[in-house]
This record gives sequence, structure tokens and C-alpha cells, in this order.
Amino acid sequence: MVAALIDGKGFAERVRARIAGEVAAFVASAGRAPGLAVVLVGEDSASQIYVRAKGKAVLAAGMASFEHRLAAATSEGELLDLVARLNGDKRVDGILVQLPLPPQIDAGKVVAAIDPAKDVDGFTPQNAGRLAIGEEGLVPCTPLGCLLLLKDRLGDLSGLEAVVVGRSNIVGKPMAQLLLRENCTVTIAHSRTRDLPGIVRRADILVAAAGRAGLIRGDWLKPGATVIDVGMNREEGKLRGDVDFAGASEVAGAITPVPGGVGPMTIAMLLANTLAAARARAGL
Ligand code: NDP
Repeated sequence: MVAALIDGKGFAERVRARIAGEVAAFVASAGRAPGLAVVLVGEDSASQIYVRAKGKAVLAAGMASFEHRLAAATSEGELLDLVARLNGDKRVDGILVQLPLPPQIDAGKVVAAIDPAKDVDGFTPQNAGRLAIGEEGLVPCTPLGCLLLLKDRLGDLSGLEAVVVGRSNIVGKPMAQLLLRENCTVTIAHSRTRDLPGIVRRADILVAAAGRAGLIRGDWLKPGATVIDVGMNREEGKLRGDVDFAGASEVAGAITPVPGGVGPMTIAMLLANTLAAARARAGL
């Protein structure tokens, strides 16, 4: 192995400890804790794991956690009513509706109903638009966590060739926007991309977010590249990334493991966004 391991877990623990200190200061001046409401509809097993982990992290940081578990048969109207109540609830600074939602509910409509000031996932059209035009706003947690890892490793990203594999609204697109904001030259690849290996070979920075286990092979990489593997693919009860870790470790300069890389950073950024939303709402 030549690649350095990017320790997302350790980095996230440091971020969480810092946030806990800042939460204590917020409580002292605002007279209340920042609050996050997490809404889970249905029984999706991966979603249940994420929601539990998020709730625990929120409490550990000294914030208030409001969990709403709704039946799989919940109607779109009922969920929209709950979002409206949470928008108006003074104790709630952040609202997270765990995706995916059951088929009878239009996820786009629900996300768009969240008050942008409480949109700690950064998924509303307002916050996505702000990121696209370079205005301050709440930024999606996973790409924000990836960016922190990259800046910690590489410092100034200006002028670097960055390739993002995946163009979803929750990872690929906001990741590309953030890298562009850091003055990278950004290429977004997706399932219709021709010659993915040739494009990946250009990358000083590779962010893999395709949801395909082992898609990116080690011999596709530019030697010394920094590789961020967002993929979380469950195979035979194990988590595997989108990058062939063993092969990539022989070529890359640095690489995130799966698990223990991007996942813990996502939760840390959720806490950071909730605190930021609380401060903005409290005028602190
Ligand atoms: P989506 O399924 O929404 O998007 C996947 C993207 O990858 C699409 O743009 C798709 O292209 C592209 N893609 C699929 N197959 C290929 C291929 N063979 N070659 C090139 N591109 C391809 O997934 P998400 O963005 O939601 O998530 C991506 C991965 O990241 C998943 O494994 C998910 O579990 C993980 N994830 C991890 C998080 C964490 O905290 N670590 C948080 C969020 C997600 P097209 O648009 O053409 O269909």
C-alpha cells in the first residue's frame, strides 16, 4: 500500500468535540439548545440505522433531538402537515426528512416545503440555488464533509483537476459546485459517460458517488491522486465503497476507507449545519 489513509472517523470525532463546545456556548447565550427534528417514514432498514445514528450524535453534542416516526402508509398531506408544524416550531432549528420516502409521497414536494432556514440537509431548491450561484446557504452534509477532508489533506485546491462520478442532487452535483467554488477544474461523470477510465485518469481529486461497488479500479487512477469514496454498498452484510480499495491503495496518494471515511463526516456536518441554522435563527 502506498496511499495514505484519510481518517474520516478521527476527523469527524474532532469536529464533533469542537461543535459540542460551541453548542454549550450557544446554550449559555440563547437559553436553549439547538434542536434537530428527524422525520422517518416507513421501515427502510438502512434509513432506520441512519436515523438512530443521527439522533445519538445530536444528543451527544448537547442538542435537542425530536424524532418523528411515521407509518409507511402515511399520506403526502399528513407529511406536509408535519413539515409545516416543524417549520413553525420555535424549538426546531433543523428539519431532516430521511430519504427515500414511500412511493405515494412526492419527495421533491416535501423537501421544497421545508423552511430553507431549517433545511440542514441543504436539499431545498433555495439552498441548491444559492450554492449554484455562489451565495451563502446550507450545504448538503456529505459533499461538505468530503470537501473538509480534501482541504485538510491538500490545502489549497485551486487549479486541481477534480472528477466527480455521480450527478445526484444530494452528492454529485453539490460536490461539483463546492469543488468549482474552490477553483478546481471539475468534470462530472455519470452512467452515460463514455470512457470513464480515461476521465478518471485525469483526476488529481476523485470523488466516487455512483453507488456501484468496486466500480473504480486502481489502474484507472492517476498516480498520487486523492480519492474520496462516498459509495456505501451493502454486500453480504458488509459495506463496500465504489472504489476497489486494494487496487487503488497501490496507486493513489491518499484514500478514504469504507466504512470510516465519508460516513462519519456526513453526521458531523449535520451537527455543524444544525448549529449554524440555530445561530442564524437566534441572531448569534
Ligand atoms: P444516486 O443513485 O442518486 O446517484 C448515482 C449516480 O451515479 C447517478 O448520477 C448515476 O448516473 C451515476 N452512476 C451509476 N452507475 C454508474 C456507472 N456505472 N458509471 C458512472 N456513473 C454511474 O446515488 P446517491 O448520489 O444518492 O449516492 C451515491 C452513493 O453514495 C451510494 O452508494 C450511497 O449509498 C452513497 N452515499 C453515502 C453517503 C455517506 O454518508 N457516506 C451519503 C449519501 C450517499 P445517472 O445520473 O446517469 O443515472
